[in-house]
Order: sequence, then structure tokens, then C-alpha cells
Amino acid sequence: MSDIPLEASMRKTVLPGGRIGILGGGQLGMMFIESAQKMGYRVHVFSPDADAPACKLADRVTVGLFDDVEALKTFARSVEVVTLEFENIPRQAVEVLEHHTQMYPGPNALITSQNRIEEKTFFQKRGYSVPPFEVIKTPDDLTQAVHRLGYPSVLKTTTMGYDGKGQQVLFSSDDLSTALNIVGPEGEWILEKFIDFEAECSVVAVRGHDGSMAHLGVFQNFHEKNILDVTVSAGAEMDDVEKGAIETTFGLLKELDMVGIVCLEFFITKDKQLLVNEMAPRPHNSGHISMETHRSSQFDLHVRAVCGLPLGDTSQVTPGAMANIMGDLWVDGQEPDWRQLDAFPGVKLYLYGKAEARPGRKMGHISVIHEDPFVCLETIRAARKALIRVKNYGPC
Ligand code: AMP
Repeated sequence: MSDIPLEASMRKTVLPGGRIGILGGGQLGMMFIESAQKMGYRVHVFSPDADAPACKLADRVTVGLFDDVEALKTFARSVEVVTLEFENIPRQAVEVLEHHTQMYPGPNALITSQNRIEEKTFFQKRGYSVPPFEVIKTPDDLTQAVHRLGYPSVLKTTTMGYDGKGQQVLFSSDDLSTALNIVGPEGEWILEKFIDFEAECSVVAVRGHDGSMAHLGVFQNFHEKNILDVTVSAGAEMDDVEKGAIETTFGLLKELDMVGIVCLEFFITKDKQLLVNEMAPRPHNSGHISMETHRSSQFDLHVRAVCGLPLGDTSQVTPGAMANIMGDLWVDGQEPDWRQLDAFPGVKLYLYGKAEARPGRKMGHISVIHEDPFVCLETIRAARKALIRVKNYGPC
């Protein structure tokens, strides 16, 4: 096989019954496999961890590291298209795969999403508003940036930051002193102005081989300790801010010539401005509720898009809400008492089959539908609260 990357014009449809490869074995991969298998596809997972949730469902598993070029080539040759459920795939791995099969998303989207500075610079260049930020390379940069942006501000690692990892809010000069010890001579950080936003929302949208696009509406998100806690999909008529969020997300999909799902997260300020926070070039935690609320879930859509099928019906059937089940709910290794959910007959439980529960680890989620989005929100919060047996549990 040649070493020339595949051109967009060479995108090949993979019909049901075909073979899809997915990089990463987490719960996003697991739910992707469920959708793919329902459509008759066979899925080959490439994961460094043999016990990961997706490995239990996959038709075939390669346990390998992302720097194992030979294993990646063999994997790529065994499938007709490769996608991913985790964007922090090393660039070299993406290049190897791109040369041996069609891969969605491609390197542009991946590389942009892997580094917060690249990502925010990209958004700014396209005219999307982002929270004011500064690049930090030295302790002196940090002191000056805090002086310009003021307190509070948020110091973040530029790479491998997800679920609130690698970030801290600086409220005072005491916090700055602590942070100055973290910022060393090696590496890069980003300091963002802390946005006292009115709300957070996300848009999950999809683009097919032929450039057609669809979206699942605007999800309202509530975070706890910087990790997504609850999502509501109201399905109501969109206001101008929400229409702007959809337009921005479609613009991004086109700019990056992406195929597949993207999720764009936003802050909505008190004066109704949209600020882009970050992108994920894959199905997203906030999109899980689409499995209940839409005719096609984000996973169905990702399968159809990467395989080059028409995107299908993306209409919303009902409002719904989702709450994450975090490892924090396990007390001394003991599972939550799931029978507490019996008091909420409409609530559905999803557990990802992870062996070890740790604070901050996503173990599953619960979801509910109801014609009134406020009832959805109240019910999902009450159901999750019923599972809490510890004092000081962050969420709720
Ligand atoms: P991130 O990993 O950047 O998506 O951040 C996770 C969560 O932390 C966001 O969804 C917000 O709730 C919060 N957060 C991150 N950056 C900021 C900011 N600049 N201002 C206010 N809250 C933030």
C-alpha cells in the first residue's frame, strides 16, 4: 500500500456487515459498538487496556500501545474504516493509520483538539469568541498574565486535560504562589480568565462523507468539580444564542473538513454572549441523553457518518435528562444500593462494567425522559441523590 494519505474524494462507503476499527476501549467505544452491531457491523477495538469496557463487546480486540507501528498497521488492514473514542492519540499513530485506511476524524481535527492553545487559537482565528487567555511558559509569564487577567483565573495544562484534570482556579495571591511552583522551566500552560457564566451548553453535531450535516439540538450542562454532572435536552424552540451555537458547530465541522461527530462546549455569559470552551472530535458525555431523546443517538450518527451512510432522522422525540454515576458513590469499595432507583420507575441505569471505582471516574449514568424538561431535571437529580451514602459527595 502507498504512503500517500487518502483524499476526501476517496472516501469509501462501508456498508452494514463491514468492519469498523475503533481506537480506545472506554465507555464511548462501548456504546458506539452497540449502535454499530445493531446495524450489522463488526467492530475491532485497539486498546492499551484489555479490561476496558468496549473490549467486552467488540468482535475483535487488539491490545496494543499507540506507538506500536506494526500493530497499528495490522489493525488498519483488518478494517475498512477507523474511528476513535479518545482524542489523545499520538500524532504518529494517526499518520500510520491514515496511510493504511480511511480514518475519521482526520489529523487536522485531532491535532487541534489535543492542545488547548492550538484549539483556542484556531477558534479565535475563525472569529469564534473564547475566554481571554494567555500562554504560560515560565513563572514570570504566569505572574504577568494574572496581573492582566485578574482573579479569579484558571490555570490549565495544555494537553491531556479532560474531566477537570490538570486545572486549578487561582482566587488570590496565595493561590498564585502555589501555582508558581507548578509552572516549571519545561512545558506550557494556559491561563484563562474565569468566566462567571450564566449557563453552560454543548452542541453535538455530525458531518457525513458527502459534507451533509445534522445536529441534536443544544444540551444544557451542569458541572461539579469541573466534571460534567447533569445534562438536560429540552428540545424546545431555539433562541438566537442557541442558533448561534449550532451555526458555530457547523462552521467548525466544515473548517476542519471533519467526518463524524463533534461536540462543542460553550459558556453563555450573563449578557448572552457565546464563548467556545472546547471541542471533542467524537461522541461526548453530554450526548448520552440522545439515546433516549432522539430518533438517532450520537452513537448511531457517528456509525453512519464514518461509514458514509446517509445521516438519517435526527429529530427529537422527547425532552430528557442524564446524570453521571461517578466512582465517588462507591463507599469503601461497596456498590451503591441500586434498589433505591426502584422509586423512580422511569429512570434507566447504564453501568459501564469498570472493575474499579475511583473518585472522579465515570462508572455509568442514569437517564430519564418526560414531556417537561424541568421534571426531567428534578427527577434525575432526586434519583441520583437517592444513591448517595457518603457525606460531602460533590455532585447534588
Ligand atoms: P474544561 O476541561 O476546560 O472543559 O473545563 C471543565 C469545566 O470547568 C468547564 O465545563 C467549566 O465548568 C469549568 N471551567 C473551565 N474553564 C473555565 C473558565 N475559564 N471559567 C469558568 N469556568 C471554567
